[in-house]
Amino acid sequence: MRRAYIERQRGEHGRKSVAVLPVHHPKELLTALDLLSVELWGPPGPPRGPDVGRVQSYVCAVARNALAFLAAGHADVVDAVLYPHTCDSIQGLATLIPDFGGCAKPALTFLHPKGPSRPSARTYLEAELRSLAASLEGIAGKELEPERLRAAIALHREIDDTKARVLAGRARLPLADRALYEQLRRGEFLWPEEHLAELRALEARLESAPVQRGVPVMVTGYVPEPMGILDAIDDAGAFVAVDDWAAIGRRVTRAQTFDRAGEPFRALVDLYHAAPPCPTRHADQGARMRHLLDLFDRSGAAGVIVHEPKFCEPELFDVPAIKKTFADRKVPLLYLETELEAELPGQTVTRIEAFVEMLQSSRRAA
Ligand code: SF4
Repeated sequence: MRRAYIERQRGEHGRKSVAVLPVHHPKELLTALDLLSVELWGPPGPPRGPDVGRVQSYVCAVARNALAFLAAGHADVVDAVLYPHTCDSIQGLATLIPDFGGCAKPALTFLHPKGPSRPSARTYLEAELRSLAASLEGIAGKELEPERLRAAIALHREIDDTKARVLAGRARLPLADRALYEQLRRGEFLWPEEHLAELRALEARLESAPVQRGVPVMVTGYVPEPMGILDAIDDAGAFVAVDDWAAIGRRVTRAQTFDRAGEPFRALVDLYHAAPPCPTRHADQGARMRHLLDLFDRSGAAGVIVHEPKFCEPELFDVPAIKKTFADRKVPLLYLETELEAELPGQTVTRIEAFVEMLQSSRRAA
């Protein structure tokens, strides 16, 4: 947990904080209520408490590590914990963690719909957002003002727009993947205005012409952990030209058609359905495959790396369709499964090296 930063936000700005499990949550509601959102992707490394043994070993490391971390009281600095309905594991944690003791923080849930933008899903989602807003008001100790919510929505759109430009200009950014992703992932805990300032500084570094000399690859997956995967791609002679990691690129909403002056909860519903396809939000594989092909075609990437956490049901559900989609196009694809190890296993590094070498040879032969 980013304890020092959370305490500083409380001391200097009077902001309370909420630990948030992956993946999708309406951050705008928290920002509008002056609540700091601190995401908990595990955390990576060995489990930090004995309660990891309370769930089966075939539950993913993200959920197991979060259980160990929270039940051991490591999140005592936050004021609440938010569990989005990403998968059965995270939904289960919302009841297991308070039951096991060790984490007495209020447990909030966000049960987002799993499907396309039907009228029933829109009505349900708006009710769910309003219910979560009421719970967050209780944590913040203040009422949600519509104008503040509109301002928060505008701020997060600015963040998404800037991030989209940085990611689209990846080949023109003179930074290694590791350095870029360390910056991008600071958005998981920074106050949004600070994150936007850092993103603008990144954007200012974009050159007018490509500076990346490695082989461009597309990555689709969950979260760039262990972050050594970025070093391995870089060291092998490639770079991440297109990002569909659920934690990063897949959370950047590019099509932002909504009524900025209208009812802010409706705007949040519109934005939820405008986000890129994600198997944790709906199961329309056709739409997702079209989206991935579109990303790939526009990027000039030479191959695809599918990088998934072991035992992740929603992500693994789409893997056969992804393999078939790119096989049909004769696009080279490397499938990797990792846990939340501190270091990337040597065997995985070797597979990345071999894959990039194969892409380099194909490019030379073309
Ligand atoms: S099963 Fe997948 S989506 Fe659910 S917590 Fe684990 S890694 Fe995340």
